[in-house]
Amino acid sequence: MIDTLKDKGLRKQMVEDLKRKGVDDVQILEAFNEIPRHFFVPQSLYGHAYEDTPLPIACKQTISQPYTVAMQTQLLEVSKNKRILEIGTGSGYQAVILKKLGAYVYTIERHKHIYEETKKIFEKLYFNIAAKYGDGYLGWNEFAPYDGIVVTCGAPEVPQKLLSQLKVGGIMVVPVGDNTQTMTKIIRVSEDKYETTHHGSFRFVPMVESYE
Ligand code: SAH
Repeated sequence: MIDTLKDKGLRKQMVEDLKRKGVDDVQILEAFNEIPRHFFVPQSLYGHAYEDTPLPIACKQTISQPYTVAMQTQLLEVSKNKRILEIGTGSGYQAVILKKLGAYVYTIERHKHIYEETKKIFEKLYFNIAAKYGDGYLGWNEFAPYDGIVVTCGAPEVPQKLLSQLKVGGIMVVPVGDNTQTMTKIIRVSEDKYETTHHGSFRFVPMVESYE
C-alpha cells in the first residue's frame, strides 16, 4: 500500500474541508491527516477516497463520510488509553482513527466477509485492534465496561444491552432512527442514570440483528 505526495495533498484538503464544516479538535484533525483513507476504500473508488462522502464497500455496506466519522469521534471524547467499543467495523477506517488517538479499540462486525477482509488490513498496517465477528446488539461483555461505545450503523432504538456495558462516566454515541438518524450522545452519569443529547441528522446503513 503506497501513500503518494498526491494522496497526502488531497488528504490535507479533506482536513481543511472538515475544519470549515466545524470539526475543531486538533488531535482528531491530525489523525485524519495521518491515516490514508484510500487504504480503506475499494481499489476502484481510489480516486474518490478524499471526497467528503460515504463510499460503497463489500456486502452493500459503506465506509462512513469523513465528516460523520469526525463528528462521532468528537462526541465520544476519546483520549489515550480509553477503552472503546465500536459496532460496525466495516472498512476499519473509524476503528483506526480511534486507535490513532491512543484508545484500546474493540470492534464488532456482523458480515463475515467484511470482518475477515478488514482484520487482514488491521494486521497489514500493524494496528493492534481487537476485531470480532458477531452481533453488535450483544456488545462484547468480555472486555466491558467501556469508556466509550460508538455505533456506526443506524439503530432503530438505543440498544439497551450496550448501555449496560458502559462505565459510569462513559459515553455512547449512536445514530437512532429508521430512514434518517439523529446522532444521539448518552452519558452514563450513575449506575442507573443516563443523560441524552442530540447532535443533528445523519444517514447510515441499518443496524441489523444477528449475524450472517
Ligand atoms: N465504521 C465503519 C462503518 C461501516 S458501515 C467504517 O468506518 O467504515 C456499518 C457497518 O455496520 C456495516 O459493515 C454493517 O455490516 C455493520 N453492522 C450492521 N448491523 C450490525 C450489527 N448488529 N452488529 C455488528 N455490525 C453491524
